[in-house]
Amino acid sequence: MELEEGIVIKANKYLENSKILTIISAKGTHTCLARASSKLRSKNYSYSQILTKIGFNISKSKRNSFDILTTGTVVNTYIKIKENTSKLASALVILDITYHLNDHIDDFSTLFSFLDLVLTKLESTKYEHYYEIIFRLKLLFLLGVGPTFSKCIACGKKEDLMFFDFYSGGMKCKECTGDEKKIYRGDYVRTLQTLYNIKIEQINDELLAQLPNHTAMINEFLDAYYEYFLGYVSSARSILGKIIK
Ligand SMILES: [Zn+2]
Repeated sequence: MELEEGIVIKANKYLENSKILTIISAKGTHTCLARASSKLRSKNYSYSQILTKIGFNISKSKRNSFDILTTGTVVNTYIKIKENTSKLASALVILDITYHLNDHIDDFSTLFSFLDLVLTKLESTKYEHYYEIIFRLKLLFLLGVGPTFSKCIACGKKEDLMFFDFYSGGMKCKECTGDEKKIYRGDYVRTLQTLYNIKIEQINDELLAQLPNHTAMINEFLDAYYEYFLGYVSSARSILGKIIK
């Protein structure tokens, strides 16, 4: 039988020695029981770890219990991420968002390939903080609350854009400015726009090396945006982020 590919985004211990896995694939989110997967010598152990790309089959449960993971193979353990504390912190932020917000997403095919590509790039990059930002920023589009950077959110004009009006979720032109309560302006808004518009496939370390270091400001923007538009506060970012970064 052909295996489906997916990424384990959460693995919770269950009963004595099993785990409940949450797997994202191109078809959707799967929650399933991996029996005996907490045992180090179990055949299920290797593919039941968080942050692992696996091939898998699931048998649908007939009664009101968990679906069961019946076959698994490891495709990528992302060892280069797991060996590096800073990369791991970024990856955990990415997986935490995916876990908490994937039910807002319809296009799992795009979500899966996007997540897969960002994690692959995270393995080899020197700029993991930027990939964490790129993931958070571009995911907003898939979540249906993408910010509008390239035109005025009020009139659609592309010229004379003054600042980002936070509560409207977009730029405002000279004529449309009024009594905005919270605005973002400055060079880092341009960096945000660049990162939002450029295709992920075209991003590499040479390009990221040329960007000004706006990560702190951009992260502040993204934290506020996720909280206001999605009611999401990253526990991984507030715990890991503050300790490690
Ligand atoms: Zn306008």
